[in-house]
Amino acid sequence: MLLIKYIYQILGKYFICTFILLSSLEFNVLAKEISDIDILSILGPQVSIKTDWKGHLKVDKSISILVLAGHADSQGIAGAGTAGEGVDLLGMNPMNELISDELYWNILIRDEIVKIGKRKGLNITSYDPIERNIVDGNNPNTNWSKGSVHSRKGGYAIEIHFDSYGEYGFGSGLIPAFSTQLNKIDESLANSFGRYPIFFRGGLGGPRRGIRILEIGKLEGKLESALRSSDTRKIVINKIASLVVEAIENGISISES
Ligand SMILES: [Zn+2]
Repeated sequence: MLLIKYIYQILGKYFICTFILLSSLEFNVLAKEISDIDILSILGPQVSIKTDWKGHLKVDKSISILVLAGHADSQGIAGAGTAGEGVDLLGMNPMNELISDELYWNILIRDEIVKIGKRKGLNITSYDPIERNIVDGNNPNTNWSKGSVHSRKGGYAIEIHFDSYGEYGFGSGLIPAFSTQLNKIDESLANSFGRYPIFFRGGLGGPRRGIRILEIGKLEGKLESALRSSDTRKIVINKIASLVVEAIENGISISES
């Protein structure tokens, strides 16, 4: 009897060890596959509207960069941002019932850009209006008001967005400010993400106030799935933010040469 119990114990330990070994191997393979993700292929199409602006102006390496999450102050009926293909067409639940999925992702990307940017020594901060529905666009607490003041003081203000899915969206790219003073950071971001015309949609509210709009990609397909999956979310957000920070750093270092 004692012998049988002993054999059971040994076999039990053996099975547990094998199980742990196999699952950690599987986890390692998964982790490696995820970190190998080619982020540019996930972002989907870049905007393809003909435009020929160039950012020539050099920037100082201490330039103050302000990062905003698009639609953070406009979660009312108009201008809440896209719900994404998942919620609108595939019947998925929103990431957070209180805000659009676009804002949900805009906030996570904004914060990751600032975290990585600070680590890389950039003079970078973010702003959040906290109040999620400010009706008057000229209220001093809106993204537009803060971004406008920041830009007038010589800083670089950029608002993160995801574009609409399907026929409603154009793809990733930088919508520059209404300015003859487009700079090397604009040029570098446009080279990495794509280049929207200056007068896109007749001139959007942000760009009219000196704020750059960065469309990360259309909120659909591979990009949306990779964001929604808990296996890939963290690494995808990190890779998108790293791409933005690298483009900014590149714009600054080109200015120095
Ligand atoms: Zn948007």
